[in-house]
Amino acid sequence: MTMSLNTQILIAAILGVAFGFLLNQFPDTQFLDGSIYTLSIASSIFIGLLKMLLVPLIFSSILVGVSNLEAGSQLSRVWKITLACCVTTTTLALILGLASTHFFHVGQGVDIDLFKDAMSQHKSPDSLTPSSFLTNFIQNTLINPFKAFSDGNVLAVVLFALLLGLALVQGGERFNSIKQLARQFFDIMMMLVGWVMKVAPIGIFALMAKLIATEDISILSRLAEFAIVVTGTTIFHGVVVLPLLLWIFGKMDPITFFKGTRAALITAFATSSSSATMPLSLKCTQENLGVRPQIAGFVVPFGSQLNMDGTALYEAAAALFIANLMGLELSITQQIIVCLTAMIASLGAPGIPSAGMVTMIMVLQSVGLPAEAIAILLPIDRILDTVRTVVNVQGDMMISVVVDRHTRDMESSS
Ligand code: ASP
Repeated sequence: MTMSLNTQILIAAILGVAFGFLLNQFPDTQFLDGSIYTLSIASSIFIGLLKMLLVPLIFSSILVGVSNLEAGSQLSRVWKITLACCVTTTTLALILGLASTHFFHVGQGVDIDLFKDAMSQHKSPDSLTPSSFLTNFIQNTLINPFKAFSDGNVLAVVLFALLLGLALVQGGERFNSIKQLARQFFDIMMMLVGWVMKVAPIGIFALMAKLIATEDISILSRLAEFAIVVTGTTIFHGVVVLPLLLWIFGKMDPITFFKGTRAALITAFATSSSSATMPLSLKCTQENLGVRPQIAGFVVPFGSQLNMDGTALYEAAAALFIANLMGLELSITQQIIVCLTAMIASLGAPGIPSAGMVTMIMVLQSVGLPAEAIAILLPIDRILDTVRTVVNVQGDMMISVVVDRHTRDMESSS
């Protein structure tokens, strides 16, 4: 009998916690030192593999997402409205994520030193003012893409991927083979992520055991608090914010929307994958919500790749939570940086289970937090992924309705 990856991860986390408690019974022994050493190697391999995939994954995901667009004036209107909706809903999600973490003081009051080594190199970008941020931004993003790739400069890679994607769209049929190459490269990256996730149970076992053996276990209750706050906030975004926007801008009542999209939402919950749910989202949007096929056919696939409110909300809240756990207070500028990177990270996350975890690394690093900190979040990630994927998928279908409505209005008034 083969166990699903979900179950394996859960069992690994429980065994890791148990092993960590066992290690606590042998303070100052060679057994403890040897075990911590082995656990550190295993966890570094896992985190290293995730870091290795980050840049090529984000690059190919954005390239494929943008190159699915089609040129033409009608479509240019469609994608302008789509983009405006995506940016608006994601921004609201980010604000909600930060605000709720602040409001509930999630993670405050403990000062863990699990990441002491990583944090010893921590450079706080406190002196960053908005104008120096802009200068930094320009200097760091408009650079040779090959340098950006080798330096792991995600922002520059994202910008290059966006430009390249737009050029592919403009070029049309001429660049079909490159489009196909990009698609295949993306598929290969997804395959590699799948392989890394196969060793996730070992990585999670090692990370949890090390966490318990070297840390104050009060962190577990903080983690539960964080899970509750993030899930509650994500549900609020899905049940209040998005339906309100749908009602105002799409002139559709939420009941009709939820009834029509129920199948897709449940599938998103069960699969934790916007991509896997996409065919069903498309069907629900066209057949049950009455969105014209040419609109749904563009907005839903585009959104399933690039529009992820739930992921953005989660990543912003998680970065703040980690900073709180470490007793660091992020300045306003740093929080803006977190929001911008979380937005980009949600763009770059493909619609597969736990993809947000890979791109989470860039959000943490943007404000000098160690990538290793995702160790704390990984054990609860698969549970949180269910709800955030529902909201990701909901956003795509909701935006389709709004775009459909507005392009109909424009057509009838022109
Ligand atoms: N699982 C999410 C999705 O498919 C992505 C994520 O991990 O946040 O939408």
